[in-house]
Amino acid sequence: MNIKINGKIEPIPQDSITVSELLELKQVKYPDMVSVQLNGEFVERILFDKTTVNEDDEFEFLYFMGGGSQGWDFATRAIHSCPPIESTNNPTVPPIYQSAAFSYDTAEEIETVFDGRGFGYIYSRISNPTVTAFEYKINSLENGVGTVAAASGMSAILNSILALAGSGEEIIASKSLFSGTRSLFDEVLSKLGIKVIYADINDTATLQSLITDKTRLVFCETIGNPLLDITDFLKLADLAHKHRIPLIADSTLTTPYLFKAKDFGVDIVVHSATKYLTGNGTAVGGVITDLGNFDWNNSLSGDIRDNAKNFGQFAFLSVLRKKILQNTGGVLSPFNAFLHNLGVETLSLRMERHCTNASELALYLSNHKKVKKITYPGLNKNPYYALAKNQFSGKFGALLNFSLESREDCFKFISRLKMTKNLANLGDSKTMVIHPASTLFSSLPKEHRLSIGITDEMIRVSIGIEAIRDIIEDFENALS
Ligand code: PLP
Repeated sequence: MNIKINGKIEPIPQDSITVSELLELKQVKYPDMVSVQLNGEFVERILFDKTTVNEDDEFEFLYFMGGGSQGWDFATRAIHSCPPIESTNNPTVPPIYQSAAFSYDTAEEIETVFDGRGFGYIYSRISNPTVTAFEYKINSLENGVGTVAAASGMSAILNSILALAGSGEEIIASKSLFSGTRSLFDEVLSKLGIKVIYADINDTATLQSLITDKTRLVFCETIGNPLLDITDFLKLADLAHKHRIPLIADSTLTTPYLFKAKDFGVDIVVHSATKYLTGNGTAVGGVITDLGNFDWNNSLSGDIRDNAKNFGQFAFLSVLRKKILQNTGGVLSPFNAFLHNLGVETLSLRMERHCTNASELALYLSNHKKVKKITYPGLNKNPYYALAKNQFSGKFGALLNFSLESREDCFKFISRLKMTKNLANLGDSKTMVIHPASTLFSSLPKEHRLSIGITDEMIRVSIGIEAIRDIIEDFENALS
């Protein structure tokens, strides 16, 4: 029989063939990285084995970088999940393709790569093999439809929002956000004409009243940084979906090891890969994963809805990569992707240790007479204890806040620490502290800062994976 494949009539030596068989017959490399249309209709990947292609059908496939998922357990996927590496000498780690562009022998070859019919790389602002390897791994850990890497956590947040919202439109965001995200929203989105409406993210009645026909997405963090309040995801996703609005969650503090975002109704999950994903503070990066929970045919974002006709479940990802990230240029560098890839291999081990260390330090601090207040979701008097336990695989993350008598006491404590670092990062294997009021939030007017709970007496701790005895000893000496 004859089938029209990507516009060319081709003979097939059988009367009927499934999509999977056809991709194999045509020696399509990496079939889990292609988007397929049959007679103009998008075909879901899970239906490749069941969908038959018949005489005179029109079959089209386009490469779509960033897919990939394999069926092992989490810890195994973190190590082995990797697209086939096209390289001599069989390296066991995806090599660093430190090249801005990629060349082809013939004009025909580069043409097929440009129009998506052939697998390949063109220019590292569009995609790069080392970056694809990292995207593939994160996608497999998140159990997503596809993942796109970005230059930083901020770039991941900005670009995912720009794919969904434009001038004259609105987004609803949690009022408890990392200070950098808050300033991105207030200083950049406002200039682009996107209005951000802040709300208590668990207050369904208020949220409901804030949603208008201009609302394009809801944005929140899994665990608010630094207040450590926790979003009730099933409730929030239900509300957002009733209004045809996707939910974006920043899961930096929970990572895919603690939070199975897809199971809790999140549509798009973003991470700062700078933090736990890499774990050693070597590189700044970010990732965006579409979890496949949102039907883009139903989207209120016009170009994504239009795109869904051709790209189905890849509609958001293709707008994100081709229309937004490629133009803003906020992409991940191959060297950083290499470092992120290495870091992720040990994510499950590190998160276990981070979380047990955090629980022990929280217990120690809650019994210390100089500590006036402690906030850690893993303490059973914490109002979010049950919600956190249920959502985060029985764990509570590794960020905590505690308060001393005064700002002066906080400064003295921080300056006396010997092993613990005083710096503006979190999610590193090293334990770190910071005084948020005088640093991360110092540009906010005092009343605003206090209204969002950042007091002068508060210290934020990101608990590392050192021996807990040494962490407690360092704190004990600095407190005494
Ligand atoms: N999201 C959260 C929760 C963060 O804590 C941070 C940084 O601290 C970011 C996003 C921004 O990430 P990056 O510094 O990689 O841009």
